Amino acid sequence: MKDLRSLTEQEMIETASALGEKAFRGRQLFEWVHGKQASSLEEMTNLPAKFREKLKQDYIISGVSILKKQVSRKKDTAKYLFSLEDGNVIESVWMKYRHGNSVCVSSQVGCRMGCTFCASTLTGLARNLTAGEMLSQVYEIQRETGERVSNIIVMGMGEPLDNYDNLIRFIRLLSCEGGLRISQRNITVSTCGLVPEIRRLMGEGLQITLAISLHAPNDEIRRQTMPIAKRYSMDEIMEACRDYFQATGRRVTFEYSMIRGVNDREAHAEELARRCEGMNCHINLIPLNEVRERGNKRSREEDIRRFKLTLERYHKNVTIRREMGSDIDAACGQLRKKYLNQTERNPEEVKL
Ligand code: SAH
Repeated sequence: MKDLRSLTEQEMIETASALGEKAFRGRQLFEWVHGKQASSLEEMTNLPAKFREKLKQDYIISGVSILKKQVSRKKDTAKYLFSLEDGNVIESVWMKYRHGNSVCVSSQVGCRMGCTFCASTLTGLARNLTAGEMLSQVYEIQRETGERVSNIIVMGMGEPLDNYDNLIRFIRLLSCEGGLRISQRNITVSTCGLVPEIRRLMGEGLQITLAISLHAPNDEIRRQTMPIAKRYSMDEIMEACRDYFQATGRRVTFEYSMIRGVNDREAHAEELARRCEGMNCHINLIPLNEVRERGNKRSREEDIRRFKLTLERYHKNVTIRREMGSDIDAACGQLRKKYLNQTERNPEEVKL
């Protein structure tokens, strides 16, 4: 079965005509699937029953269903544990800000990048998500909260650039005229630094923000926590980022998770500042979310503050990520891991 939610308007028009219908039927179908976020063909009452019957033979509308929702004490963050049609489990996070609501979307079930501080990668990669499954996370959260989502960050489970084609399709569907029409400028894609795909991305003509998970000021430290650093050097990444800015005019964000005794010394801040000299970039310091299965510790608060001040001395644009939802396991992959651990022990009864 194919997934209607992953199809563009043009593809729906082609699908309609292949089934003997006029082009406008394809447009109506698109309006149902992405404009109204319909979850079944039955809802599409202005489409001929015959057309819907034919569609049913080859297509489904992929969805996600809520297994668990955890809301933070301040009620400004909610974490959703979703199950997919095939029983796989993913997570997404909803965050309420003054300037609008954000959803943090997963791009894969698990991840194969192996970063040593991250929970998403503990059980490896199960599979890629389809564009429809990425959209479903947003559609379902919007339906469930009854509030409009205006920002998307692809920073949930998975490495988005390891699922390149589905990611691009997702971004185009998310921002297109007949869909949710989320501005591309409000979409951020975070990558551990797959250089060929970053280069490919700059040619797509998108206005999204690219965030790079740097987490180190040099290759030696980066290789200790990020296996991908053995494949691509920081020089290659920085060069790709400079070119990305040249090609798109979009300022790149560097994410830097602060791990005690590993990457948080003043000398590291100085080295980082030098590496991004003359670059139009923004550095986001993330206090590490400690993951039980991983040994790493979060940097001390005074070290994080000093790191920030050092970067500012070099005139770098830097923020410390506001912590939302650390009381609800909102760090990547933590909630799913807990769920998987419990199903292993007691598959009959799962309580989080
Ligand atoms: N694969 C993508 C998206 C991953 S998640 C990437 O690597 O960018 C988004 C960010 O959270 C990444 O910067 C990731 O390195 C970081 N991250 C993962 N686990 C973390 C943890 N336990 N504490 C703090 N940041 C973490």
